Amino acid sequence: MTSVAPFRIGHGYDLHRLEPISAGRARPLIVGGIRLPHDHGPISHSDGDALYHATTDAILGALAQPDIGQLFPDTDPRHESQDSAAFLAEAVSRARAAGWLVINLDATVILERPKLAPVKEQMRANLARLLDVPTDRVNVKGKTHERVDAVGEGRAIEVHAVILLGRA
Ligand code: MG
Repeated sequence: MTSVAPFRIGHGYDLHRLEPISAGRARPLIVGGIRLPHDHGPISHSDGDALYHATTDAILGALAQPDIGQLFPDTDPRHESQDSAAFLAEAVSRARAAGWLVINLDATVILERPKLAPVKEQMRANLARLLDVPTDRVNVKGKTHERVDAVGEGRAIEVHAVILLGRA
């Protein structure tokens, strides 16, 4: 069968350990390009934006290209403290180069606190801008982990992202 299918679907997943910022190793908590007020932050080589990372991996996955860790290794000093919007922009430009456009994104952020609701619309707007789609094609859902396991105990943030690409 030839590859004439008009759609590609991709799934991305990311998790970052969260530690108290006062301990000195964690970065400020940034999700979907928004800095959240919190006393814990991610341990990460880049800025640790798990929503941007999962979305990047969803696109790369749909393209069947190397994943974010392969393209932007955390051993590369160029990515130290990197704004993760750059990773997402690179994935979108790879999609375009391969003849694909983003149709829609559905993402779930699992974070015990703080609540995402106050900034969810800003996250959607940031993602829509980077993905070059209208905001109504981007969905961000916030969930807690019901206080169980590492995520529920506030020791990690987890994100799932599903993306649909269509022929440009
Ligand atoms: Mg990550």
